[in-house]
Amino acid sequence: MTTYTVINPATEKPVEDVHEATVEETDAYVERAHAAFPAWRAVPPGERAALLRRFAAVVDAHVEELAEIEVRNAGHTWGNATWEAGNVRDCLNYYSAAPERLFGRQIPVAGGIDVTFHEPLGVVAVIVPWNFPMPILGWGMAPALAAGNCVVVKPAELTPLTAIRIGELAREAGLPDGVLTIIPGKGSVVGERFVTHALVRKVAFTGSTEVGKRIMRGCADQVKRCTLELGGKSANVVFADADLRAAAGAAPYAVFDNAGQDCCARSRILVERSAYDEFLGLLQEAVQGMRVLDPADRASEMGPLISAQQRDVVQGYVDEVEVAFTGPAPDGPGYWVPPTVVLAESTEQRIWREEVFGPVVAVLPFDDEADAIAMANDTEYGLSGSIFTGDVGKALRVARGIEAGNLSVNSNSAVRYWTPFGGYKQSGLGRELGPDAPNAFTEEKNVFIAH
Ligand code: NAP
Ligand code: MG
Repeated sequence: MTTYTVINPATEKPVEDVHEATVEETDAYVERAHAAFPAWRAVPPGERAALLRRFAAVVDAHVEELAEIEVRNAGHTWGNATWEAGNVRDCLNYYSAAPERLFGRQIPVAGGIDVTFHEPLGVVAVIVPWNFPMPILGWGMAPALAAGNCVVVKPAELTPLTAIRIGELAREAGLPDGVLTIIPGKGSVVGERFVTHALVRKVAFTGSTEVGKRIMRGCADQVKRCTLELGGKSANVVFADADLRAAAGAAPYAVFDNAGQDCCARSRILVERSAYDEFLGLLQEAVQGMRVLDPADRASEMGPLISAQQRDVVQGYVDEVEVAFTGPAPDGPGYWVPPTVVLAESTEQRIWREEVFGPVVAVLPFDDEADAIAMANDTEYGLSGSIFTGDVGKALRVARGIEAGNLSVNSNSAVRYWTPFGGYKQSGLGRELGPDAPNAFTEEKNVFIAH
């Protein structure tokens, strides 16, 4: 039995040993899920809804415990970790309404009636990254279960602990054996096997663009369904007519939240030239006022990076540019990088083009609305973005002009489970969350009945 040790990124101390599954074990879990599918899909809608609500209630009773695990395992702040555990509960509650509302249509035809059905796929795999272990698990698992699928989950190697606990809570809530299975292990072993195993009918993947492309290529062999939530290099566009103090106060949290390890991080700030100097002064105040502390301290607003490797990658980006100013960071153990602001010199720089996935933001001025849209769109990514302006017409024009799936005006609002979420261009494929998510875990069947 192979195990590895999960590390607390704020202290570098071991947290727990976790068993990593082999290919054979993965196969056995997938087969067990497949065996559980006929009974699970046959559970009447009202009963499946009740089970999901009970699962949500059990998660709710363990929010504090789950948050505590995430603070230790992922270095998340208490505020974030508590929100994340609550998000799993909310997502389960929201999609618990779906089994009774998985509507088909009745379509007018000659000589009979035509009806459609949304039927579950079978075994669905969810591959979760380390940056938001709980929410991303919930976003895949909840609508997939609601639609009548059995779900196998591979958490990230670095952050498996909350997923393992949520799997136990599902059993406690009464989900039948094999309906939800958490399988910790390597991406190259468990994750790859999800792609190649013929009984897995869909892979919902969140992570790097590189691995996402590999998964999409692999899924092609079996025409396996896949959705991809990948990287981002999102723009925070600040016009001179915005409430600059509010925009500058919000900007650090739009990129440094979760130490910048967020696919939605607004890691490019575009500021209208006439407001550039004033905005930077306000931004400096806000960044230097951030509380970057060991997340075990409930006052912490930003924790460490997830691993030494991730810290080194991020530091590599910082080392090749001139830093304008930084916020604080603790000395001593932990994978710390302070909140860092870089005044970019050109749109060709790596810091402007590549997803850093750390607490580093690059700033550039723009001249006018058309320039702002063109600069925002000058990227292979298209996940999120923010627009700060006092002019509602301009806000709408720019929001419609930016090629990204999730935009916020005068805010950096977090992802909401009841609105659709996903990327344009290389930020992803398909959508998660929102009212339509269960349909993405079904096939639509059309049946014609002659009179
Ligand atoms: P990653 O390698 O894409 O990992 C994401 C998940 O995929 C993990 O569970 C991983 O397992 C698994 N995986 C890895 N290789 C796989 C394969 N060949 N087949 C199937 N599954 C596989 O991401 P990462 O290396 O952790 O992070 C690298 C970069 O990805 C980050 O710096 C960031 O730029 C980006 N990223 C984006 C998001 C996002 O939300 N869009 C999230 C995380 C990372 P292991 O844990 O075993 O590797
Ligand atoms: Mg990787």
